[in-house]
Amino acid sequence: MEKELKKAILDVPDFPKKGIIFKDLTPVFKDKKVFKKLIDTLGKRYKSKKITAVVCVEARGFLLGAPLAYKLGAALVPVRKPGKLPGQTFKQEYALEYGTDALEIHRDAVGKGDRVLILDDVLATGGTAGAVTKLVEKCGAKVTELAFVIELDSLKGREKVKPHKVFSMVHY
Ligand code: AMP
Repeated sequence: MEKELKKAILDVPDFPKKGIIFKDLTPVFKDKKVFKKLIDTLGKRYKSKKITAVVCVEARGFLLGAPLAYKLGAALVPVRKPGKLPGQTFKQEYALEYGTDALEIHRDAVGKGDRVLILDDVLATGGTAGAVTKLVEKCGAKVTELAFVIELDSLKGREKVKPHKVFSMVHY
């Protein structure tokens, strides 16, 4: 799977700003064989882990979270930028290179007894993943694992979510 993913993932230099090499997953979504195998691989890994909810992050995380939650027979829970979710929310700020950003979750999206898988496309600095982990915990649920298609190892994102387990399909 790693080989097929690496072949399909496109490096876009200087996007969205200079110095960033953007890992574009649209060719993975476009290749129906690779996309199916990606979701099937995650499905196989998490089938036995009794996941009750897949929590995914706007916007590319949604594209992965929806088919995986469906496959696992688990709930699908969106985490969104402030002001997008209509119900009562918990909010978590996190640091960016310059300044801060924030994410929100519905307060009743998950709760005690839930075994949550957090899913996103890329683990970079871990700011996003750290914030999502805190949101899930604010709701009273347990984070079983965090999964990513891509992990950028040099940015040490997994240290931000310690002691939680991280699974990444490919590393750069
Ligand atoms: P971070 O909070 O630094 O771990 O960044 C993670 C979020 O930013 C993820 O939701 C990714 O979609 C996005 N992201 C960060 N770096 C990249 C990259 N090099 N290519 C594509 N997406 C990225």
